[in-house]
Amino acid sequence: MAGSVAVNALVETVVDLDAIAHNVRILREHAGDAGVMAVVKADGYNHGSIEVGRAALTAGASELGVATVAEAAQLRAAGITAPILCWLDSADADLTAAVAADVEIGVSSRVHLQAVASAARELGRTATVTVKVDTGLNRNGAAPDEYSPLLAAVRTLVDEHTVHFRALFSHLARADEPEHPANDLQHARFLDAIAAAKEHGLEPELVHLANSAATLTRPDLAFDLVRSGIAVYGLSPIPDNDFGLRPAMTFQSRVALVKEVAAGEGVSYGHTWIAPRDTTIALIAAGYADGVFRGLSGRFDVRIGDTRYRNVGRVCMDQFVVELGDNSSGVVVGDTAVLFDEQPHAQEWADLLDTIHYEVVCAPRGRTARRYRGGAR
Ligand SMILES: *Cc1c(COP(=O)(O)O)cnc(C)c1O
Repeated sequence: MAGSVAVNALVETVVDLDAIAHNVRILREHAGDAGVMAVVKADGYNHGSIEVGRAALTAGASELGVATVAEAAQLRAAGITAPILCWLDSADADLTAAVAADVEIGVSSRVHLQAVASAARELGRTATVTVKVDTGLNRNGAAPDEYSPLLAAVRTLVDEHTVHFRALFSHLARADEPEHPANDLQHARFLDAIAAAKEHGLEPELVHLANSAATLTRPDLAFDLVRSGIAVYGLSPIPDNDFGLRPAMTFQSRVALVKEVAAGEGVSYGHTWIAPRDTTIALIAAGYADGVFRGLSGRFDVRIGDTRYRNVGRVCMDQFVVELGDNSSGVVVGDTAVLFDEQPHAQEWADLLDTIHYEVVCAPRGRTARRYRGGAR
């Protein structure tokens, strides 16, 4: 349990490290002979990159992936020695720290590669690089006109022992639509990119393409390593198939007050809900400052005990209200109110907000404390 976390926090995320381990085991089954890289960028999709990273490695993940050098350095500082790849940095990032910490750097351009080479020369060390090739996502990765000159530059730096070329990777645009021809087009382009690297005398130790969705649905795209993020956290990237994954995050708060309201009384700012009957309400201590979207007002449930209760009136900065009716279950102050875990599920928020569960689990913030359960703790 992180020492800085207040034990009596009202609003908190509880991250189940046994669920992380369970999900990594499912991913390993799907990956076959390929290794599993657990993607722990954005502080482990807001689950805690260090704790999740350790739990994933213990459960058999072989590597960790992050976006930035700073994220990678944080994992190294926590004592994690497994391979770590980062793939999104500007050329002015602190690449020296990354090279010194033996972080593998994904490069998408010659400018970026030269910055890595400068850091390596400064340290008198060899930097490990992975080339990221754009096969059709048209986001990060070397574009077709950049790819060949980038390979030539890598080849030169390898000959100088400034750079160790480890791997080649690319990222899919439509993996959550497994049958979409874009996946096959990207696959074909990736095979061409591997062949082009070999023509430059660059033999990658590893090549990788698959994210969670492809790991679970396209075993033909697994290559040597799969890069799984969202599924590690127990959320399925494929609608209507959970693959046996278990959500690792519980977002919860407490009942701060229980009271009666008379029929005809308005509740919360703007009185957007008027009590249609004499009823009981519970005040929940979590608001939009903590990641409970105001746009959910009046449309979402919390679970207290085994019962779901509907939010009534507006979600405010620090609090919102649910209706208990006759409160036959006997909800009292201090009870835990679950905003999402398995039931309600983050997908319900995603549907209500017209977004994806990735964004939902990234939402808890502000006063939200995080603690862990399970794992070898
Ligand atoms: C975020 C990310 C992943 C993981 O994607 P999921 O859909 O969460 O599995 C893999 N590769 C790259 C390059 C990424 O940016």
